Amino acid sequence: MTLTERDLNVIWHPYTQMKTAQPPIPIVRGEGLYLIDENGKRYMDVVASWWVNIHGHAHPYIAQKVSEQLNTLEHVIFAGFTHPTAVELAERLLEIIPNNQSKIFYSDNGSTAVEVALKMAFQYWYNSGTQKKKVLAFHNSYHGDTFGAMSVSARSAFTQAFEGLLFDVEYIDLPTHENLNGLKSKISSLKSQISSFIFEPLVQGAGGMIMYEAEPLNELIRFCKEQEILIIADEVMTGFGRTGKLFASEYLTEQPDMMCFSKGLTGGTMPLGITSCTQKIYDRFLSDDKLKTLFHGHSFTANPVACAASLASMDLLLSSQTQSQIQMICTKHTQFKAKIKNHQKLSNVRQTGTILAMDWNAGEETSYFNTIRDRLYYFFLQQGIILRPMGNVLYLLPPYCISPDELNLVYGKIEEALEVI
Ligand SMILES: *Cc1c(COP(=O)(O)O)cnc(C)c1O
Repeated sequence: MTLTERDLNVIWHPYTQMKTAQPPIPIVRGEGLYLIDENGKRYMDVVASWWVNIHGHAHPYIAQKVSEQLNTLEHVIFAGFTHPTAVELAERLLEIIPNNQSKIFYSDNGSTAVEVALKMAFQYWYNSGTQKKKVLAFHNSYHGDTFGAMSVSARSAFTQAFEGLLFDVEYIDLPTHENLNGLKSKISSLKSQISSFIFEPLVQGAGGMIMYEAEPLNELIRFCKEQEILIIADEVMTGFGRTGKLFASEYLTEQPDMMCFSKGLTGGTMPLGITSCTQKIYDRFLSDDKLKTLFHGHSFTANPVACAASLASMDLLLSSQTQSQIQMICTKHTQFKAKIKNHQKLSNVRQTGTILAMDWNAGEETSYFNTIRDRLYYFFLQQGIILRPMGNVLYLLPPYCISPDELNLVYGKIEEALEVI
């Protein structure tokens, strides 16, 4: 049996209709930008393996640090115990995230980082003697797949089976200079019920790489704070250099009460989640009353190996080499955007930092629209490039190790696709 046949015998894949899906591609090795299948075919990973990989695959420095950690301490219960890598990671992360953040709460993925933030927010009000049951979120948002995270994500085909089981969310449009006043009056009419406002700063990833401006978002955050709504910046996708700065929140002057991190946190090597918060949030849980404790934790909370991977990834991220790579990607994306932005088959060619996205026009025929995703996906796959359009949205979200020549090659293939698809 091939690896793929053995897989199909025993495995149920995520987001996959197993009846109709193509068999999965068996990847046996990773090397920098490349994933290598069992026949030796090399694929450029231009989606950073579900947006997590920032320094390339099987990075020797991260591998070395992880291996040292594995040989020293692989795991320890994190209630009543601590360990050096968790402490060092918390210290170093607090140095680079917005300076109002003062405590780090560990979990093990992006959805759990969001769950923790939501629970902190709801319980902040509970501990204050009030109850606020609603959350404010944007249309087209995505915050994860566990129930709380799914609740604050946009309602879609993905959440339909659970409709009615999800808690109460007030959805608003992305802020623009024009609609801000409307948004504000809606929010102020609901303010006594709203515990928190959660958003993906500047880029809504899974919603289709929807990009929006910092300035009206900043104004919206400022207004929510006035209304005593707690602010949660979900930087699970935008964190660690994606938007050109270390964190998307750096584009804002209004700082969040809580922040969520995962994905690039470990350089994409291991699952780890972090929710940071301000002293104000933290202090609201300090009490002689045990019921005011944040009762949340996971078996693998602050796993030492994942923390070691994160520290190694942070060393690499902050190096001048990676920082200039990030700027190089931003500059080249901007140049390529200028070149293709008026192409008749494209609309809304857009960029935030290292993310470049474009809508592939559907034309008149809806059947064409329905198959455009697959046609693009398989076109690039055949060329040894992993680009996974979301519907008709094609986007590039590369690891920072990609070279100018490799970027040029990908751009060239996109231009080729514009000719033939
Ligand atoms: C991916 C993602 C999540 C969920 O993270 P998982 O690790 O997949 O659970 C949450 N928020 C945002 C913005 C994301 O992109």
